[in-house]
Amino acid sequence: MVDTYCVIGDPIEHSLSPVIYNSLFELYRLRDLHYGAVQVSKASLPSFVQSLADKGVRGFNVTMPLKTQIKQYLAYTDEDAVYGVNTVVRENDELKGYSTDAQGFRRSIQLHDLTYAGSRITFLGCGGAGQALIADCLKHGPKRVVILNRTAAHCGAFAKQPGVTIDSLDAADKWMENTDILINATPLGMKGVGSEFPSLDFVNLLPNTAFVADLIYSPPQTRLLAAAEQRGLANMNGLWMLIWQAFFAFELYAGILPDMDAFSRLYDKLTSASG
Ligand code: NAP
Repeated sequence: MVDTYCVIGDPIEHSLSPVIYNSLFELYRLRDLHYGAVQVSKASLPSFVQSLADKGVRGFNVTMPLKTQIKQYLAYTDEDAVYGVNTVVRENDELKGYSTDAQGFRRSIQLHDLTYAGSRITFLGCGGAGQALIADCLKHGPKRVVILNRTAAHCGAFAKQPGVTIDSLDAADKWMENTDILINATPLGMKGVGSEFPSLDFVNLLPNTAFVADLIYSPPQTRLLAAAEQRGLANMNGLWMLIWQAFFAFELYAGILPDMDAFSRLYDKLTSASG
């Protein structure tokens, strides 16, 4: 009997998850496991959850628009999943929910010899992904956190946290000089979205030692990252987080945390897939 895993969401056809997990099943010779993509809308989530046992689903990843809605079906929700669930494991007919996004991003910056501890971090955007990363960053001792968002009211969860400043995205220039790690958690620059930062001049105001991370992975090099590269700043695209969050989810499914060799193979494969 093949154990089934999948990613659910709507739309789902462009998900890179089947490529990632099936590559890992092959790499670790887990031939009795298979991973697919299932289109599940908000309306069809209840029937999907009911059908899990019949379909032999052992676990699944959750993407937009179901990351919060899935919580009502979980017997256990990990504390990292407060801002949304991305991984569900089915054990003894009970569902356990996790989010590996923030852990995946944190591992990605560690692999660039960086840490939140003692660093001055500036986030652009404070949506679902941004909030998960900000909450995780605040648990790891940053020197200072600035959140620049179009809508200040959406950052309310962090407004009273010590060491946190909230400002408008338009005020980016003001904060760059004192930024060690700049993280773009908006969709600005993403393929198909059609919106770009009105100006990237703020990149010129970052210190020479600053690191720029974009959560976007399609295209693999956004205009923000191209501007950072042109300035000679170290930088990282969203494939790092995408792959490492999947690696931590894979660990929950299969009990194996893939290594840097697996990362490099997937990074190359997905760079061509998301170009
Ligand atoms: P989200 O919940 O929709 O949040 C979007 C954020 O961007 C909000 O802060 C929003 O500001 C801001 N924003 C949206 N459009 C804007 C515009 N035209 N001008 C200025 N600000 C704008 O999205 P999300 O799930 O957090 O995802 C954010 C980005 O991260 C996306 O590009 C997504 O693809 C990427 N992502 C990558 C990974 C990965 O593994 N690499 C994982 C998750 C997400 P307001 O509060 O004002 O609306």
